This record gives sequence, C-alpha cells and structure tokens, in this order.
Amino acid sequence: MSAIPTRADLAALPAYVPGRTVPGAVKLASNEVPGGPLPSVADAIARASREINRYPDMGAWALVDRLSRELDVPTSQVAVGCGSVSLCQQFVQALCAPGDEVLFAWRSFEAYPIVTQVGNATPVRVPLTPSHTHDLDAMLAAITPKTRLVFVCNPNNPTGTAVRRAELTRFLDNVPSDVVVVLDEAYREFVTDADVPDGLEFARTRPNVAVLRTFSKAYGLAGLRVGYAVAADEVIEAVRKVYVAFSVNALAQTAALASLDAKDELLARCADIVAERTRVHETLRDLGYEVPETLANFVWLPLGERTTAFAEHSLEHKVVVRPFAGEGVRVTIGTREENDTFLEAARAFLA
Ligand code: PMP
Repeated sequence: MSAIPTRADLAALPAYVPGRTVPGAVKLASNEVPGGPLPSVADAIARASREINRYPDMGAWALVDRLSRELDVPTSQVAVGCGSVSLCQQFVQALCAPGDEVLFAWRSFEAYPIVTQVGNATPVRVPLTPSHTHDLDAMLAAITPKTRLVFVCNPNNPTGTAVRRAELTRFLDNVPSDVVVVLDEAYREFVTDADVPDGLEFARTRPNVAVLRTFSKAYGLAGLRVGYAVAADEVIEAVRKVYVAFSVNALAQTAALASLDAKDELLARCADIVAERTRVHETLRDLGYEVPETLANFVWLPLGERTTAFAEHSLEHKVVVRPFAGEGVRVTIGTREENDTFLEAARAFLA
C-alpha cells in the first residue's frame, strides 16, 4: 500500500454525525421543520431551475441586498454562505492563524470543534452549567491572548437553553475588543422570551460582535444550504475572501428570496411548532423526565448513561432521535402526530 501523506491532525478530528433517516420512522433528529416547502417557494425554485446551466450570482447580491433591508444593516455588513455551518468555518479561516484559540461552550453545536480544527486553530471547550446553560463567567475567564473567536450559540444546540440580555451585555462588555464573538442564532425564530436579545442589537453597534442565521430551520430550506452573517465591514470582507466560489447555488438564492417574501406564513408555522414545543415539554416533565427550558425547535433530555438505550428504544417505536452518548438525547419538535408518536415512546421507556 502506498502511504500518501495527509494532515496528521485530521485523524483526531471529531466526526460530524448527521441525523439518521430510517425508512418508515419519524425523523426528529436534525431540527428540521416538518412539512414541505411552501408552494410559492417550490414554484420559485422550479422557475430558477430553468437556468441552472449558468453559474449563480457568486456574491448572492440580490439576497445580500434584501437581507440588508430586512435587517436594517448596510450590505457591507452581510455575507451569505452555503449554510451557516459554512460561515462558521469561514469565520475561523478569516480570523484565526494556526494555534489561535476558538472558544465555545460544551456541549454546543458539534461543528464548532470541527471547523476550528480544520482551520488549524485550537478548540477551547467551556462546560455548560449544571442547568445546561452557557457559563459566560467561565468563558470570560477562559479567554487568553490567543483567543480570536468565541461562539455563543443562542439558543444553544442541543440544550435549547438561552442567554438573557443582561448577562450577554455584561459578557460582551468584558470581552477584549479584538476578540470576535459570533452569536449563532440558528434558532432565533423560535425564541419566545423578549429577554433573549436579538443579536443584531449588539452587532449593529459593536464591531466585534457577529450574528449568524440560517434559512435551514424556521425557513425550511435545510436541503438547499443557505445561511447568512452580519458583522463589521472588515470582518465581512475577510469572511467573503474565504468563501468557496459559487458555493451558494442559484436555487438556494432564489428559494431564500422567495422565503423572505413568504416570511409571515413561515413564521406562523414556527408559532405552531412553538405551541407543540410547550405541549411536548410539559408532557415529558409530567412523565418525570428532566427537561431544561427550551427556546428552540427541540427538547433536550439529559439522560446520561441511559442515552443510547433511550435512542434505541425510540427507534423500536419508529422515532429517530439524536443521541449524544453518555450525555443526552435531543428531540426535534415535529407535527402533532409525530410528537405523539415520540411521547408514546418516551412513556413506554419508563414503563
Ligand atoms: N448553528 C447551529 C447552532 C445549528 O444547530 C446548525 C444546524 N444544525 C447550524 C448552525 C448550521 O445550519 P445550516 O448550515 O444548515 O445553516
């Protein structure tokens, strides 16, 4: 066998484990929204498909322009990426030299350590508090002269917990001004507590604060891969430089624009999911499960050693959940019927 040298450090890279799709089972493993695309969005995609012999608009300028008006920020402060996970990677590449540190809570979005290591930077994980929330004081204490980037996932994937305005303000007031804090708001549209701040409140006025959002969750375009970032001009300029050319495809750009046109309808769908979230959360608690507060479209069951058994049991009941071995299970809120199937499985697990 020939030995072809590849980067030795990649061997230690944690794998990104996508939610499984099992034929015949309800998939509540990837925080997707249930129901297909809206007819208006599907029609726009069909129309755009007639021109896919052409390269897409590389800068996604129509979408950038539209987002800038929606979000009330200049176009120079908006970048679009191939899913917000791609933007996470672009932030690392744009801001970190080899050996620089990227700080984030743990457990949080599993792509953070991966994109950090791919970018030759060093991940620094700060444990969540026992109540599954960000420990912002510990995160402040973990900042070193090598820290370039901090991810704050709000609400946090996979726990669903959220950081409030006062604590986030205090944290941002104390982060050195040359450290960029990325507020990852993939689940922002499901937040129902006014005390959980819209990150744009900070990003508009603080050059070292960025906001990441996605069309994958509330807007239902996970399969098309499109997300966006809002940050200071110089940060956006650097983030655009490390963009893989044309990686936001034409159908994704069109679908994102059509989804913004249908925003009210899509946000109404989120309200239905939020109502189901309350029902699922209360039912699980009534059954005796520990379930932290959640402001996203999923619930977290910190089952510890029972995690794998719970996931296997759920699968036997035709529900795919997302286990994090030894820690807990994340379950996406689906349709009422899907949630009932899951709740039945959760009830049977205790029997
Ligand atoms: N951030 C968080 C917190 C997420 O949970 C996810 C998706 N699981 C993403 C970013 C990436 O989403 P996408 O790449 O689909 O925009």
